Amino acid sequence: MSRLLLFGLVVAVFIWLVRTFFPSSNRKEGADATKEMVKDPNCETYVPQSEAISKTVRGTNYFFCSEKCAEEYSQKNV
Ligand SMILES: [Zn+2]
Repeated sequence: MSRLLLFGLVVAVFIWLVRTFFPSSNRKEGADATKEMVKDPNCETYVPQSEAISKTVRGTNYFFCSEKCAEEYSQKNV
């Protein structure tokens, strides 16, 4: 009886692990979200969100074309 209980527990943990590491049904809404263009507030160019570097400056999340722009912008807005 206790073995059955243990087996059930193992199965439950396994399902939990699979759901945690493969959240296939939990994808972001809108498959094109990564193709969305975002504006770099530092050099004012548009970059695809998937390639952009996101950084929070003064509580607001911005997207940048490069680490350099992210650094420059955050230094300007300390
Ligand atoms: Zn830039």
